[in-house]
Amino acid sequence: SAKHGGRNRYCFFTEPMNRRVQQRLEMESGLRDAERRGELELGYQPQVDIASGAVVGVEALVRWRHPRHGLISPANFIPVAEESGQIARIGDWVLAEACRQCAAWRETALAGLPVAVNLSAAQLGRSDLAEGILRHLEAYGLPSSALQLEMTEGLFFHETEPVRSTLQSLQRSGLQLVVDDFGTGYSNLGYLKRFPVAKLKIDESFVRGLPEDTEDVVISSTLIRMAHGLRLRVIAEGVETAEQLAFLREHGCDEAQGFYFSRPLAGADLARWAQRR
Ligand code: C2E
Ligand code: MG
Ligand code: MG
Ligand code: MG
Repeated sequence: SAKHGGRNRYCFFTEPMNRRVQQRLEMESGLRDAERRGELELGYQPQVDIASGAVVGVEALVRWRHPRHGLISPANFIPVAEESGQIARIGDWVLAEACRQCAAWRETALAGLPVAVNLSAAQLGRSDLAEGILRHLEAYGLPSSALQLEMTEGLFFHETEPVRSTLQSLQRSGLQLVVDDFGTGYSNLGYLKRFPVAKLKIDESFVRGLPEDTEDVVISSTLIRMAHGLRLRVIAEGVETAEQLAFLREHGCDEAQGFYFSRPLAGADLARWAQRR
């Protein structure tokens, strides 16, 4: 009967789906007070100049320390924050916290280093983004060079007029734009002419197989040459081994970031790490 079929569907399909929907709603509502409860935190991962070995920057990566589920990766909750209209608020917290930490590093081995913050498309669509960023910098007495903004290619590719003017005003204010996960976006590279971005970040998926994997060798060395041809700096992410680093050095890559140097650490721990180096 229809009733019976309905119940079967309920058992085999609807119930697990309900559970997913339930978990999703729980995550959405948990995120609504995550900052207020102090559950969000930033991990910082160093960026190293390959030629000199000096630390030249730091990437801020957000985490959610959930009271019951433990540490949740941004890969899991950022999409939920984006789809539930919360990314602008959370992103603003990230920007403020990165500025606070950058100012707190003034008396440490990390003094003066720029902090790279990841931006989502929804943040760039807001007309108050540039103003908000400048306000945070000012509140902590930081120059605009204290922040770099990482964004994926898709963000430039699907650029709309508000995004274009936001990016331009950020640039004019002196913030450096970095193209994150470079090479994964299948995009038309024309945006590199319209937006003088400062740096390209080669995605870890092209670093993983170095130096053996032929495709990774071709792709990463081509991306390095292209960046330099356009007079941009280039950084490789996800560097885990000395062999990967040696390949990148040989091919003239400027900077590297990854577990080979350090995992993302709390602000005070990263300052101690830099001090020991
Ligand atoms: P991403 O910007 O590409 O960040 C790099 C990710 O690679 C980080 O993961 C980092 O921990 C990880 N990673 C770094 N070195 C290595 C390595 O040597 N090996 C491996 N296997 N992985 C490495 P995480 O922290 O889980 O971040 C994931 C993504 O979440 C980030 O990717 C970024 O796109 C996004 N994200 C993080 N923080 C924010 C934020 O504040 N706002 C927004 N919108 N997105 C964020
Ligand atoms: Mg990033
Ligand atoms: Mg990246
Ligand atoms: Mg990546």
